[in-house]
Amino acid sequence: MKEGLEKWTLSHDGGHRYGAMTTNMSKCFNGVLKGARGLPIAVLIDYIWCKLVAYFNDWRTKILGDIEHGQEFSKHAIDKYEANYEKGSRHYVRPFNQKNGVYQVCTMHNPHRSDGGDHSHEVKLLENTCTCGKWEIYKIPCSHVIAVCIKEHVNAMKYIDPCYTLQQRLATYSHEFWCPRISHYGGRLPAQSCILTLKCYETKVDLCQQE
Ligand SMILES: [Zn+2]
Repeated sequence: MKEGLEKWTLSHDGGHRYGAMTTNMSKCFNGVLKGARGLPIAVLIDYIWCKLVAYFNDWRTKILGDIEHGQEFSKHAIDKYEANYEKGSRHYVRPFNQKNGVYQVCTMHNPHRSDGGDHSHEVKLLENTCTCGKWEIYKIPCSHVIAVCIKEHVNAMKYIDPCYTLQQRLATYSHEFWCPRISHYGGRLPAQSCILTLKCYETKVDLCQQE
């Protein structure tokens, strides 16, 4: 393989892809645009445009609703954090150098896990690292980091990367679409196109459910 390791491995990409290994954007658009297959090219473009308008509007509405309910982070980040917290509360923490934020974290023996548990990891809070590697990859504190935070009475949520905040997510969908008054092809917007637009809105899948 002549490509550099940082381009195709989790362990060498410096955490820049937050654990996502998919590089082909067409994969995710395949699902979103399934209904557009087989349409004539002009209708297909209108259809895609309608879908994007609906997609952006749905997500913006959902995120704003979540922010109003006091949610700070995405559901994905919170679910992962809570699962790690539950595990972290059972770990044993040994401070090695509290001043420099260095700790050893030991996990208990677990016969139900394929690897059996019984691990030892080094957490360096000031360097944002844990030898398990998950904190660097996912930018969400792993169970070992959370165990340290529990011992030190620190809120581990402050170590969740800002990219998972709903404000950042809202910024992703901040692009404004303009209601078209003329068709893409120069003249007045044909009635057929308007009807198609409305149908797209009526039949659109609730994309927020596909998170
Ligand atoms: Zn860890």
